[in-house]
This record gives sequence, C-alpha cells and structure tokens, in this order.
Amino acid sequence: MTRPRIFETIAALRKEVEIARRDGRRIALVPTMGALHDGHLSLVRSAQERADFVMASIFVNPTQFAPNEDFDAYPRDHEADIAKLAELGIDAVFLPTVGEMYPKGFATGVTVGGPARDLESATRPHFFNGVALVVTKLLLAALPDLAIFGEKDYQQLCVIRQFVRDLNMPVEIAGAPTVREGDGLAMSSRNRYLSPQDRHKAALLPVVLRDILKALDDGTHVPEALADGIRRLKEDGFEVDYLELRSAETLAPVDDATAEMRLLAAARLGDTRLIDNMAWSKPRAS
Ligand code: AMP
Repeated sequence: MTRPRIFETIAALRKEVEIARRDGRRIALVPTMGALHDGHLSLVRSAQERADFVMASIFVNPTQFAPNEDFDAYPRDHEADIAKLAELGIDAVFLPTVGEMYPKGFATGVTVGGPARDLESATRPHFFNGVALVVTKLLLAALPDLAIFGEKDYQQLCVIRQFVRDLNMPVEIAGAPTVREGDGLAMSSRNRYLSPQDRHKAALLPVVLRDILKALDDGTHVPEALADGIRRLKEDGFEVDYLELRSAETLAPVDDATAEMRLLAAARLGDTRLIDNMAWSKPRAS
C-alpha cells in the first residue's frame, strides 16, 4: 500500500496534474468533505475505472454551511481518510486549508438558478452558492478531465451539471449510484450523529420512498402517494422538509409529458437531517 501524494496548495496540485497530463493520462477528481465511507470510496473506484490518474479532495467548505449549521462539528479525520484512499491506490489527495481556498480579500460568488431553486434551497438558501463556488474552485484548481459526484446528493449533481455547462468548463461530470447500509439507509458522514434509536428509525426513509414508487407503479395518483409517505414519516417522528416528485433532468415539477422522474426527500430526526432520492419512470402501457 503506497501513501498517495498529498498536496495542500493549488500550485503544487497543478504541477502534478501537468506532469500526469504530459504523460498522456486521463485525469479524474472526486471532491469530498472527508469522513470517508463506502459511498465516497465507490466514487473513487468508479473514477479509477474511467481515468488513469485519480485525485480526491478533502475540504470541509465553510461557504456551504450557514452560521447555525455543523461546520465546526463536522467530522474530520484526515489520517483515517488517507489510509482508506491509500488502500484503493489513489494517486493524489488535495487537502487545502480554508486560507488556501479563500484567502484574505476573497470576494467572488457563483450563483445558480434552474435546478438550484427550492427543495434543498427552501431550507438551506446559502447551500448551493457555497457548493457551486467550491466545486468551481476545485475544478479550476485540479483541471481534471472527469469529476464524479454521488446521486445521493441528486439536486447537487443537477446544479453542478448546470453551471459546468453554463460556464463551458471543459470537464465531464459523472454521477454514481447511492451506496446504502444493509438496512437501506443511504450512507452519509452525518449518519454518525444519529442516536441508536434514531439510527434504527432512519431506515424508514428509504422504505417509504420505495413504497411510494411501488404505489405509483400500481397507479396511485402522485399527490396521494406523496401525502401517504409524508404521513408515515411524521408518524414515526420525522420532520419532513420536502418529499417531492420532480423531473430527473431539470428538477422542475412533473407534468404528463415528464418521462424520467426523481423522488426526492429531506427529513429530520432530532438534529440530524437526512436526504435521499430514487429514480422513477412511468410504467409503459402494455
Ligand atoms: P460529501 O463528503 O458529503 O460532500 O460527499 C462527497 C461526494 O460523495 C458527493 O459527490 C456525494 O454525493 C458523494 N456521496 C456521499 N454519500 C454517498 C453515498 N451514500 N453514495 C454515493 N455517493 C455518496
């Protein structure tokens, strides 16, 4: 197991990427906030299948947290993260400081409309501005051919696709499927905040999403299927921020012409906010 090369500055990272590119290697980046779990590692594996020089970034990005959110408490364990990445044989890890990413006097923002509107933004209006800014900076710092993001954060993936297209960034954006625990709960660095009782309850979220899709397959109307899902979650002690069926491509509300859809949910158990989503398309008339 070789320790990956670690870079803390954009200049050093760029130099390394330049060498890899000169060697004709296809370069991939997997951005993360660390506290790595199998969901993150699946993105790295997918990157390794599609590129020959793979980097991960670990950066807890302050601009995507509101002052009342968990920026300070967000789990950080660089040594454990680097050991996991080393085991996969990753080539490089970018570990910038906040000062490297946002030096004194920093005064620029990236604002996205379209898929960034509502859902997550209704509860976290600052969030996608922060994500768009840091991902723009990471893509420009690392200059990869390919960057991989999880479908677990489906709205985030749509937002990233939107600004990469709008700003003509020369990078391919790939989505990777959500990795789940044995009971179906989507893996998340924040799951460790759940009390044992809430961790047990949390598995109801994907069960309810799957049941809604089954009801839709069976012909239940969308508003009824969603209302029933919200009722079940509330009965089990969830506070539901949203549970909605949207266009998988644009995240606009669905109409009769929408073919590919996404069921998206955010719900809180105690102080922990869980998000999840699943794909749905109308069964073909037989
Ligand atoms: P984070 O560290 O939470 O910012 O996530 C970094 C990347 O990992 C994002 O692209 C996430 O969508 C992705 N990710 C997080 N959890 C999962 C999961 N359970 N399955 C697949 N990808 C995930």
